[in-house]
Amino acid sequence: MSVITFTGCHVVDPAGGRDGMANVTVEGPRVAAVGEQVEGTRVDAAGLVCAPGLVDLHAHLREPGREDAETITTGSAAAAAGGYTAICPMANTDPVCDHAGVVEQVLRLARDAGRCDVYPVGAVTRGLAGGELAEIGAMAAVGVRCFSDDGMPVQSARVMRRALEYARTWDAIIANHAEEATLTEGAEMNESDLSAVLGLHGWPHEAEEIMVARDLLLAGGLGARVHIPHVSTRGTVDLVRQAKIRGVRVTAEATPHHFTLTEDLVSGYDPVYKVNPPLRTAGDVQAVREGLADGTLDAIATDHAPHASEQKDQEWPQAPCGMLGLETALALTLTELVDGGLLSLSDAINRLSTAPARSRDITGQGGPIQTGAPANLVLFDPEARWTVDPAVLHSRSRNTPFAGRRLRGRVVHTLLHGAFTVREGSLVDPLFLTDRSATAPAEERGVIS
Ligand SMILES: [Zn+2]
Repeated sequence: MSVITFTGCHVVDPAGGRDGMANVTVEGPRVAAVGEQVEGTRVDAAGLVCAPGLVDLHAHLREPGREDAETITTGSAAAAAGGYTAICPMANTDPVCDHAGVVEQVLRLARDAGRCDVYPVGAVTRGLAGGELAEIGAMAAVGVRCFSDDGMPVQSARVMRRALEYARTWDAIIANHAEEATLTEGAEMNESDLSAVLGLHGWPHEAEEIMVARDLLLAGGLGARVHIPHVSTRGTVDLVRQAKIRGVRVTAEATPHHFTLTEDLVSGYDPVYKVNPPLRTAGDVQAVREGLADGTLDAIATDHAPHASEQKDQEWPQAPCGMLGLETALALTLTELVDGGLLSLSDAINRLSTAPARSRDITGQGGPIQTGAPANLVLFDPEARWTVDPAVLHSRSRNTPFAGRRLRGRVVHTLLHGAFTVREGSLVDPLFLTDRSATAPAEERGVIS
């Protein structure tokens, strides 16, 4: 087995309580030691931060069905380039991931790609139609821990309650796209003075908050687990904060675009800024930042939503919602939240890796970085400055709202079960990938048998 030591790095490992200088030795698929020793091949990592590989709770990889926008191979390449070692693709594919067959197809494609551990999210309802429950039990049996109709809200409180009750049998999680649809018919942006000026139909913040309040009440009443995706309003942050105080089993995420961008960008009608839930006000952005700082919001998740240019580059009303996220999340977190004084570096890694892994019962990811643990790691240069250029992203699509933005922090190495997926800033050719994820024991991949 190959032995390699990263020397002189700043290890930031919230799960292990470590935040200081050390050498990290990797032997085969595992961490062999963290400390003073140097064994095997030496890789100078002075100036780099060594952290657990990032974990994304919310990505759209588009396969099966929309391979023109993204595939599991290109999406997991984008993820590795962004420092991720685990991603959770959403169920709104074609066919929908609403039964075990599609889950197994996604897992197989992900193993073949070999660049990330992939934890598919199953649908809550058949065909995302909001009626009959999907095959939750059969999907749980092949390792699915979270169910979501993301993109489509579960409108019926009765269906949501049954889903929560059923998922509780496996201690699984329901993540409902929070949008009360009777309030958002035809909505194209946040409802505000600006939407009136622009003549665009508004998406009121209450449409999100009503759904979140409902789901928190239902989950609290049942003692079931609920996850609130892409929190975008001040009211939602408050609702989650209060629910946590009451003891509701809730976790929540925010996206980099919702803690960075405001609705004012919509003024130019550039569809790259069209997203669901929409970009909100500066006050909402501030509230989301505060929620991440105080832990109300557990995780930073990308809601990576690639669209082919023929789709996305249409007039505002026709363009689909969604933005890329996997390759910019780490740098946006460092630039906007750590430099903004809201998060320490360790808290940032916690929100990007440790907390999301814990929130979804994913073991072997998110740290701790210690002897015997799977070597799922990211090493990044926190001082490297770079400018986002859509042309060089690894995603198959180009719809990043951050083009031209100057950011701090760049991934140098990503290791998945001890194998480089990114080395010296470049994606490792698939021919040279050692697919350790395929051979890792099932319990290490978080699969409950
Ligand atoms: Zn959504």
